[in-house]
Amino acid sequence: MYVNISEEEIQKIVQNVVQNVVGDKSVTTNQSPKGDWGVFDDMNDAIEAASQAFLKYEEFDIQDRKRFVDAVRRVAMDFKEEFSRMAVEQTGMGRVEHKITKHINVAKYASGVEFLQPSAHSGKFGLAIDEFSPWGVIGNISPSTHPSPTMLENIISQLSGGNTIVFNPHPVAKRLNALVIQRCNQYIVKEGGPENLVTCVAEPTLESAQVMFGHPKTKLLSVTGGPGVVEAAMKFSKPIVAAGPGNPPVLVDETADLQLAVKEITESASFDNNILCIAEKEIFVVDSVFNEFMRLFEKQGNKKLVGSQMDQLAQKALEKNGKHYFISRKHVGKNANVLARDLGMTISEDVPMLFGETDRDHPWVVAEQMTSCIPVVRVKNFEDGLECSLKAEHGFEHTASIFTQDLTRATIFSKKLKTDVLVINGGSLRGNGGMTGEGSFSHTIASPTGQGITNPRDFVRRRRIMTAHALRFV
Ligand code: NAD
Repeated sequence: MYVNISEEEIQKIVQNVVQNVVGDKSVTTNQSPKGDWGVFDDMNDAIEAASQAFLKYEEFDIQDRKRFVDAVRRVAMDFKEEFSRMAVEQTGMGRVEHKITKHINVAKYASGVEFLQPSAHSGKFGLAIDEFSPWGVIGNISPSTHPSPTMLENIISQLSGGNTIVFNPHPVAKRLNALVIQRCNQYIVKEGGPENLVTCVAEPTLESAQVMFGHPKTKLLSVTGGPGVVEAAMKFSKPIVAAGPGNPPVLVDETADLQLAVKEITESASFDNNILCIAEKEIFVVDSVFNEFMRLFEKQGNKKLVGSQMDQLAQKALEKNGKHYFISRKHVGKNANVLARDLGMTISEDVPMLFGETDRDHPWVVAEQMTSCIPVVRVKNFEDGLECSLKAEHGFEHTASIFTQDLTRATIFSKKLKTDVLVINGGSLRGNGGMTGEGSFSHTIASPTGQGITNPRDFVRRRRIMTAHALRFV
């Protein structure tokens, strides 16, 4: 008796049999699994497809890569409104207009192939050339806080480096992230590129993340998220670019331009409702200018909480896990007027932030709150503020900022804090580059693994070729 069975089904059956026999999920055939423009039901298939795509991608040169990367930049621009609206709908975090800005930053300022210039060394022993070479398939985790910008920017960096990419996206943004991947593949294929340069799993889970971390075909991991996921990924003995949490303090001393400080801090800390890891999370102000700072911060449009209101809101919005405070999911990235409702207050949705005085060990100071409420702490002097900033930053060495006219203090502050991003007399967001800062732009700030603000060089291997006793031609 004959049964009608497609070649694809035979392929799957053979693969399953082989996997059952050898117990190795990475066993493959030479045919790429079929997905929907890069979206797969199974993480093993997503990795296999990206691995097959890598073999094809290797055949293209760096100018082709630039063309495909430019196609991804166009995806960011063409779909910025749609992606931003979807992000707010699916995650319930942030503000659409700010998310649009993030997409423009990625499209225009994320660094590309220009970061990968080779270098040559010639001398009496011959000629050596150092080049940047791809890893192969890079396994990525993207956060809920900037689902599409982080994804697009990592795609730009990693494709620039000649890699192919698999994602285990954050479950709350899985539909948006799948769409981003489909659009990127469609645009790349239209430019003559191979299919499946970027893949993901349709239903990301902790288990599919573990498969991705441990799979022999993911050669490098790129993980953005909170402490849990960074710790989980670092357990695998694999090279990793890990962008973990921050809790950026800002110190305002008595020499600071207070008008500038309140304007810059308000714009930066309220951007996308404070969900950026780089945004100010607590403000330390020297006692002699504290009252004036509070007055100006309110005048800037922020709503001051008084009496026990900061405590009351902390009880609703912050939770404790052992010794650590963290923000409850349903309070992350909320508008100030939404948080104010928890206190029975009605305020305009244009209010950038709630703020109030707390002590230095208050849960609002300790937690990475990522929402529109910021604590302000009175410190005795610069030295006291420095100590408080060090403690509040928790040794993440991520981001910090200072407002002062005293450059010696600014230097001491930056030396002690040792953060990847240190901003002087500006909102900490300016440290990200893009349209309000200098330097290359990235939302991926890899503090635990030391790459800092990432660029394509963080996603390549450095290799050397040396011709001995020849080719020095001068
Ligand atoms: P999150 O840690 O809740 O989730 C991040 C991702 O990790 C998600 O895809 C989630 O499903 C996955 N995950 C969580 N625990 C896991 C585990 N044990 N094993 C496998 N996967 C796991 O973070 P989030 O709420 O999406 O993002 C906010 C956090 O990310 C904040 O702490 C923020 O500071 C940080 N962040 C850092 C940067 C940076 O550049 N350093 C950028 C963006 C966000």
